[in-house]
Formats: sequence, C-alpha cells, structure tokens
Amino acid sequence: MKVAKFGGSSVASAEQFRKVAGIIQSDQQRRIIVVSAPGKRYKADTKVTDLLIRLAEAVMRGNEYDSLIEAVVERYADIARGLELQASEVIEQMKADLQQKIAAYHDDHLRLLDALKASGEDHNARLMAFYLRSLGMEARYVSPREAGIFVTDEPGNAQILQDSYEKLSKLKQCSNIVVIPGFFGYSLTGHIVTFPRGGSDITGSIVAAGAGADVYENFTDVDSIYCVNPSMVENPRQLREITYREMRELSYSGFSVFHDEALEPVYKAGIPVCVKNTNNPEAPGTWIVAKRNHRNVPVAGIASDTGFCSVNVSKYLMNREIGFGRKLLQILEDEGISYEHAPSGIDNMSVILRANQLQGEKEQRIMDRIQTELKVDEIHIEYGLALIMVVGEGMERAVGVAAKATAAFAQAQINIEMINQGSSEVSMMFGVKEEAVNKAVRALYDAYFAPVYAQKE
Ligand code: ASP
Repeated sequence: MKVAKFGGSSVASAEQFRKVAGIIQSDQQRRIIVVSAPGKRYKADTKVTDLLIRLAEAVMRGNEYDSLIEAVVERYADIARGLELQASEVIEQMKADLQQKIAAYHDDHLRLLDALKASGEDHNARLMAFYLRSLGMEARYVSPREAGIFVTDEPGNAQILQDSYEKLSKLKQCSNIVVIPGFFGYSLTGHIVTFPRGGSDITGSIVAAGAGADVYENFTDVDSIYCVNPSMVENPRQLREITYREMRELSYSGFSVFHDEALEPVYKAGIPVCVKNTNNPEAPGTWIVAKRNHRNVPVAGIASDTGFCSVNVSKYLMNREIGFGRKLLQILEDEGISYEHAPSGIDNMSVILRANQLQGEKEQRIMDRIQTELKVDEIHIEYGLALIMVVGEGMERAVGVAAKATAAFAQAQINIEMINQGSSEVSMMFGVKEEAVNKAVRALYDAYFAPVYAQKE
C-alpha cells in the first residue's frame, strides 16, 4: 500500500486535479491520499493558505473580510467548474464553515488563525474525495480527527503525539480510497492545531508511518530532487537516490522540496520515500532511503541559506574554563534563542544563529550578559552570513572532500568565514558572506559535480 501526498501546486486547479486522479487510478496501491491546499497556478498567484492568513488578519483587525471569504471559496468553485462537478452544495458548506469558524474563534486570535489556515487543506480534501467519487472511485474524506492525528497544543507548530500511530494503523484496513487533509491535527482538547508552514509533508509522513505503508510518495512539481538549487546552477544533476540523513541536512539548509521535519516518522518506520512530479509521473523521481551506494558519488548535494549571524567571543585560556560553553549557551537559552552551529577554537567560540532572533533589545542584552557574566576579552556579532552545506554520506570514507571545497573557494576568490564538520561526517558547513553565496555554490558544484558529468558524457 502506498500513501501519496500531493503538494499545493499539484492540486491548484482543475487541470491538476485531473492529473492527480489519473495518478491514483494508474496504481491500485495508492490508497491513502493526503492533499495540500490549492497552491499557486502561476508565479504571481496567491496560495489559498496565504489568502486564509489574510482573512484571519482582516478579522483580527476588525476590517471588512467578506471579499476574502469570496476569494477563498472562488478558488474551489473554479476547480469544481473546471471539472464540471455539480458541487454547489460542497462549495456552500465551505463558506458556511469559514463563517462558523470566524464566529467561534473571533476573540481567540491564535485559534482563529489555525482554524482558518487548516480549512485550506480540509476543503480541498473534501473536494478531492467528491471529485474521485464522480469518476466512479470509492473515495472517502477522512478528517485528521477520525484518522487519529492527535498533536500537541502549539498553534502553528504542532508535534505529533505518539499515541496517534496506533490509531492510524487502522487505516491500513480501509478497502476504499481515503483522502486526508494535510497540515493539521487535533489537540487532545479537540482544537485544530496546524503544523509549521509546508506541513502537509509532515501529515503524509505520519500517515505513511502509522498505516505501515510500503512507500510514501510525495508528489510535487519537479522531476526529482536536484543536487543543488536549480535557481543557482543551470540544469543541475538530478538525484536518483539520497539517504534520510542527507535529505534532512539538505532540507534544513535551503532545499525547500521536502519539509525538514517530515522525514522523522518515515525514517523511524523505515519507509522509503519517493519524490515524484505530478506533471510528469513517468519520471522515476528521487528515492529517499536508509542506505545508498555512495562509492562514486560521496557528495549528494549542496544547499545554502542566508540570514545568519555569528556571535563571536574570545577569552584567553577559554579551554581551561570549565562550563564556559554551557554558560554561553545558557544565556541564549534564557532569551529563547536556538542556535545552529557552535564552532570553537582554544580561546574562542562562535555561535551561529538565525539573525531574525536577535531583534530589538535582545542583541544588547545578550552582549551585556556575555561580557559581564563570562568576562570575555572580546565579543562581536557578525551579520550577513550565509551557510553552505556540502552533504553526503560518502564523505566519511572519501579522502579530499574538504580539500576540493577549499580549493574551489580559493580559485573563485571567496573568503571562508567559518568551517564546521560534525562528528557524523554527513555534512560540512562553510560560512561565507551573503553576497558571495551564489558564486560559492557554483564553485562547489563545479568542483563536485562537473567531473561526474564529464565522465558520463
Ligand atoms: N498549505 C500549507 C502551506 O502553504 C501546508 C502545505 O502546503 O504543506 O504552508
């Protein structure tokens, strides 16, 4: 049995709905379907989730919002018209549902936002099930509550509760096609709570793990995962196979093709993931698996992200001071700041974080505390950092992977601000100035992947 999740662009229009139905019909194993809300139909289009966020904001500010309800509902009505469905009742129910949610949560802004955001997926799953039935398939909408997706009560940041998996295992027995909305679950007190943005991937993965699927198929709008962001390098190499660990590292640092939190459930359950293209389902896609043969290709991909800063502290004889690192990180913890890396030397330590966490007075407060409590010789914060991750399971055994990167940087005249390699040896991190990031990624691509190309040609 396969769980197939269709992302926003795969379910954005009537034409896309038709493709999805064709994909489901072409393989009887595809029995559990998870859908996103309708995404963008063209570049300048607005995702339904974003329309719903605007709707919630209008309600919160006391602004006129009827036109926004109309705009949301029209997206579904347009799909229904394009599919020649007699769906006026379904569409009317959507409108009533939005109005009812606004009335119920009018004064509870966090719940209102979550309930409205979740309705994008919810309505789409209902419409998809309706459409599949119109084609003669035995399809049924199943709400996350009925399926058993129970989550922590953290609006916009839900985490699955472990008990859910047992409940979800019952889905395996369904003989018909089940359509489940992605992106949200229910708290134990019965409230709708959403996952972080892009979280339908998480639902798909949870459902696949719970139902014990043989494969989790993740349908999107690219033929495969590329070894580097295609907007940075023209026509980059497609990946046939990648491991869970590699994918996790890559999606954390800028690969937006798969939500970085989505891998955990399938990884733990050992379920292979296949990322495929709704617009070209014949293409083999990319498999995410536990192990791959990395003899010839030690590096799987290169990812990058901007918007980081580095808190650099130095103190003579720091290495002798017991608890220095802990105290430094404690100050950040007290301020509710998470960090990404902490490379260190004998007398210095840097903590790399997302710069948007240092807004307002936080920056000064942190600097003052570090200065007074840790009595450092020097402290400064460097902004405008980009992180580049070179990721590959094969790095552990291959010699010269780092040398290749540093040589590529030197040749491209790029100054490396920072280097870090964790003990897992599945990734290597380079910090460079933001303005150099594109050039740096291209240089690395040429160093690691151009020769592979040349060999093949
Ligand atoms: N619709 C939600 C979003 O745009 C979740 C998803 O599509 O995965 O973030």
